[in-house]
Amino acid sequence: MEPAPAPGAAPLLALSGVAKAYGRAPRQFYALRGIDLEIAAGEFVCLVGPSGCGKSTLLRLITGLVAPTGGEVRYRGERLAGVNPHATIVFQTFALFPWLTVLENVEVALKARRVEPPERHARAEQLVELVGLAGFESAYPRELSGGMRQKVGFARAMAVEPELLCLDEPFSALDVLSAEALRGELIELWLRRAMSTEAILMVTHNIEEAVELADRIVVMAKDPGRILGEMHVGLRHPRNRKDVAFQAMVDRVYAAVTGRTATEPELIGTVPGALGITRRLPHARLEALAGLLEKVAAEEGRGDLPRLAQALGPHADELLPLVEAAERLGFARVEQGDLILLPAGHTYAEATIPVRKELISGRALRVPLVRWIYETLQRDDDQRVDRDYFVEALRGEFGDEAAAQVDTAVEWGRYAELFAYDKDSDQLSLEG
Ligand code: ADP
Ligand code: MG
Repeated sequence: MEPAPAPGAAPLLALSGVAKAYGRAPRQFYALRGIDLEIAAGEFVCLVGPSGCGKSTLLRLITGLVAPTGGEVRYRGERLAGVNPHATIVFQTFALFPWLTVLENVEVALKARRVEPPERHARAEQLVELVGLAGFESAYPRELSGGMRQKVGFARAMAVEPELLCLDEPFSALDVLSAEALRGELIELWLRRAMSTEAILMVTHNIEEAVELADRIVVMAKDPGRILGEMHVGLRHPRNRKDVAFQAMVDRVYAAVTGRTATEPELIGTVPGALGITRRLPHARLEALAGLLEKVAAEEGRGDLPRLAQALGPHADELLPLVEAAERLGFARVEQGDLILLPAGHTYAEATIPVRKELISGRALRVPLVRWIYETLQRDDDQRVDRDYFVEALRGEFGDEAAAQVDTAVEWGRYAELFAYDKDSDQLSLEG
């Protein structure tokens, strides 16, 4: 929950009518226009939006690294002129000094704040420990993994003790495990107020990440870069990506980002047919989905269907089921014979395999058939159910297609690592 600021108190940060133009007439364009945004002490805010919508520019304006072309940025009520001494940006990749050790890299930030040597040393040690790098004080950056280097960067940013910590896609350059660990570390430090920082503003293109961390999500659009709207995330911490409420929030944010308003009907249980929401699953192999989405991503997110079919060569007849699967999973939509990637599709195309699995498992759960099987297994005492049970239950809906539908749902569920199928017993069971 967002702490209400004291009545009359100025928010930490307030932007009104902020614009930033780049270039010169006639080639001038607005990277940002009409930006109104307030951030109060105690808030963790995430900025999401397509690439090029001005997210990084917005952080630069807030930290005073660039000046607005119009409007004003106020910090604690004061109009910002020049660099904002109370805000720090942490970039996607940190530039550590290669000739300094971990500890020294953190100490330089304290030195810049004129902290005296003995205190500097002690404080740097504390910070290094706080980010989980105890034992690596005298290691050099080249001896560390990417994730560890990012931690040094965090420690250094915290050494500055900014009131407002701005993070620009801080996890996107990391492998999935390091990203997850560091995300956990950050939210833990933040929630137990272990850092003196009063507010965090984080840019991410990963909507799940935003829903995991933020109190409020600000959605941006481009051409010109602007704020479309914002939403509060009322979920309690720790947040679980597989929770229905979590996924519903993710959906709402995707809908806002893509300009969709209607979302799929919410699912509530038992036999899908009873709810009248049974839709045939396309017989698509999800293994082949990544390749398709990658191809479209490489074409700026818009792929001509006939040409995509050609590219599939002998597998051309897999295209339509794949396209339908991509639509059902919220990765893409079809428009005028083109397959157009949605933000989730971009994320999927660019993600590493473990991240893809995670994305798929969340999304597959929103497919009625898959969800129904999953929930049935969950309700079962030993979490194993005969495949036949499902086939029979669906007979009324699908007739002779019932078995094929179950098999496809099982393939999807297995791919998403939601459940497993044992050939010998012909039973389904929950994964793990
Ligand atoms: P995002 O971080 O959302 O991807 P950016 O803030 O980096 O977006 O960029 C917004 C737009 O402004 C883009 O079209 C980008 O090319 C342009 N832009 C960013 N920085 C500059 C610059 N220094 N000079 C000219 N154009 C820029
Ligand atoms: Mg950026």
